[in-house]
Amino acid sequence: MDLTKKRFKEEFSQTFENMYAFDIKNSTAIQQYTALGNYLRFSYSDDWNKTNKKYLNEQVKQVYYFSIEFLPGRMLKSNLLNLGILDTVRDGLVDLGLDFEEIVKSEVDPGLGNGGLGRLASCFMDSIASLGLPGNGNGIRYRYGLFQQKFVDGYQVELPDNWLRNGNVWEVRKENKAVTVRFGGQVGLVEAANGHLKPTYFNTQNILAVPYDTGMVGYQNDVINNLRLWSAEIPPEEEIHYHTIAEREQVNQITEVLYPDDSNHEGQTLRLRQEYFFTSAGIQSVIQYYKQTGLSWQNFPDKIAIHINDTHPSLAIPELMRVLLDEEDLSWEQAWEITKKTMSYTNHTVLQEAMEKWPIDMVKKLLPRIYQVIEEINRRHIEKKLSLYGSDLTYRTAIIADGYVKMAHLAIVGSHSVNGVAKLHTEILMHDVLNDFYQMYPAKFNNKTNGITQRRWLHLANEELTKLIDSKIGTDWKTNPAELKLFKAFIADQETLDKLGTIKLVNKEKFAAYTKNEMGIEINPEALFDVQIKRLHAYKRQLLNVLHIIDRYLKIKEDPTLAIQPRVFIFGAKAAPSYSYAKQIIKLINALAELINNDQEVDDKLKIVFVENYGVSLAELIIPAAEVSEQISLAGKEASGTSNMKLMLNGALTIATLDGANVEIRDFVGEDNLFLFGLNDQEVQILNKNGSYHPREIYETNPRLKQVLNTLIDGTIPDIEMEGRVIFDSLVYHNDEYFLLKDFDSYIQAQEEIDLLYQNKTKWNQKSLMNIASSGPFSADFTIQRYAEEIWKIDSQLIDVHQKLFLTEPI
Ligand SMILES: *Cc1c(COP(=O)(O)O)cnc(C)c1O
Repeated sequence: MDLTKKRFKEEFSQTFENMYAFDIKNSTAIQQYTALGNYLRFSYSDDWNKTNKKYLNEQVKQVYYFSIEFLPGRMLKSNLLNLGILDTVRDGLVDLGLDFEEIVKSEVDPGLGNGGLGRLASCFMDSIASLGLPGNGNGIRYRYGLFQQKFVDGYQVELPDNWLRNGNVWEVRKENKAVTVRFGGQVGLVEAANGHLKPTYFNTQNILAVPYDTGMVGYQNDVINNLRLWSAEIPPEEEIHYHTIAEREQVNQITEVLYPDDSNHEGQTLRLRQEYFFTSAGIQSVIQYYKQTGLSWQNFPDKIAIHINDTHPSLAIPELMRVLLDEEDLSWEQAWEITKKTMSYTNHTVLQEAMEKWPIDMVKKLLPRIYQVIEEINRRHIEKKLSLYGSDLTYRTAIIADGYVKMAHLAIVGSHSVNGVAKLHTEILMHDVLNDFYQMYPAKFNNKTNGITQRRWLHLANEELTKLIDSKIGTDWKTNPAELKLFKAFIADQETLDKLGTIKLVNKEKFAAYTKNEMGIEINPEALFDVQIKRLHAYKRQLLNVLHIIDRYLKIKEDPTLAIQPRVFIFGAKAAPSYSYAKQIIKLINALAELINNDQEVDDKLKIVFVENYGVSLAELIIPAAEVSEQISLAGKEASGTSNMKLMLNGALTIATLDGANVEIRDFVGEDNLFLFGLNDQEVQILNKNGSYHPREIYETNPRLKQVLNTLIDGTIPDIEMEGRVIFDSLVYHNDEYFLLKDFDSYIQAQEEIDLLYQNKTKWNQKSLMNIASSGPFSADFTIQRYAEEIWKIDSQLIDVHQKLFLTEPI
């Protein structure tokens, strides 16, 4: 976007006065932010309109990315960067006497996702627009985002996240595009004009789905795609039927809150309502769009791809069937062909507790017609496969079985592509978790390793590192991240290595200022910063990290004169409110922090910082300051992970199990440049299969580990009587489901290697540089390029030559 500083200052001041009718000098940062956001939205509205019109007029194929979560982070700076006016606007605001960073901070970080899955959806939105691909998001406009986390006496307390308090400058309400979503009632067959019996719905509860659209700004390419989030309202013509507050509340409830569960299936009716609400609204709006093209239904899959991000939107399959059958009068065969060709599905987890299944009675009652369609999909599926695969295998793939509707089965049968999110994860899907389906549909299965947008996670979060890279290898890496590997040429350049160290130190000082001001904890910026930031979950093994910290603490207490590398252990994690074991681990970490941070003998050899309310904005502060990236999930459990990629991109060295995308990180960065430990996936499988794991034996025979574990129950750590006992028992007596005791020794050993390496700053910085330079392949731009070419079959609308560079495979 062309904008001079002079014009910006004039236009922005004018916008401010038009909005507020007073002088900008007397305004608050929130008002300045609001005016600036509106100004930006006005400035890109023309390109937004043009992008939409181009897609429609040229009838290009588009993808619709259906996701129950989007976790975009603050959008002011990323929009400025992508519009190409970040520096102009920043300078202009300084001229006007305004504080840019204050303005940035006054934007609320929208918490419309739990963690990795929602963040992936937002990284994808950025890459789709930046590659000039015709693509749109479809999701829910939650009135309240993920809870705000506070610690009270070390316990997690959840507060509501009223993120819309000051409005939302980026969204545009489009009541003219509203659709009706129907729940409940009965289905009957009524004779239509052509004599056919037509399914007709009676006594349904009708909800108005109103879209709020947000522009997804591409990186300096004039493309503005659309993220459409739906809000539930009472249809104006039905106001009369809603007499009580309770009745009205029931409607608002649908889009009121985001379920705070990560990797855990929440089986409540309201969740099923949410899932149908946004998929039905999304399908209806795609259909309305498609009708404008005037093309025949047979061409639908040539113009539309619909992607199902995990199983939450998989009702898109029977919903598209319903519309084609009941409203457009297609035959079952025609509708099924179209649906399968249109839909594709990403699996995000192998955890059994995360697999969505809905009681038949619940689906029948809430979605009677959809249930009929699913029944027929299932009937035909079984009928077709029985003779080919026999009854055992075939019935294991049933969509309806054991009293439940199995959403993953529906998603696989109803789509043409099923992908995992890292090589190892896809292997596990094909050969283990989804092997029955893999035998039936080998060609559907494929891998698309997750990625992250380097624009947010390097360019914006770490401007100093960006400048250094620009000065060494030029700026083409921003549109072709494969070029980051050119940075490897500076592996022996002492000046570059020292500069890397200085930049890291400055970022650590910034974080230290935060912990001092916001938490009252003073940390030494010269200490090693060790970071584990992700949802709190047993399989991610924050507890293993804790055991290592306790081991260190005991070492220092045993010999207070010990010359040990000072470390700051940084945690950021929310626990699902109903996940008591995870909350007990939070309490443990906070109690340990209380003990260690206040122990004079420990001094600054050891500190624990557990930030409250971890989210995208805190990630942007912590990641540039990180030196060690903790990716220590039990092998075989983490589908991909993406914080591993963000941390690597910012020069942290990874300590990892061979899990998820860690395997590919190892392949690209080389075994010498990260620290591997622990069981691999095969070894875990064997231990699980033959039941030969006995943690109690390890406890009894490993004196050091015994000492460490005993601190949980012997009063060493204050105020955790109950939690310490539960956690201790889970490890020693209740079979240590995630093999912490088994991996303890090799984890400690890897940590010692880290300390040793850290003593040699040059060698450390060399490995840091290798990590940065090897992270190009994990750009979401590549991930999205593969989705676009191999699954969605959509084309970039850019003619700019530099975009062709994307076609180079990262090596
Ligand atoms: C990237 C990200 C995640 C995902 O972290 P994992 O370690 O991959 O689980 C979760 N939350 C936020 C805020 C993130 O930015």
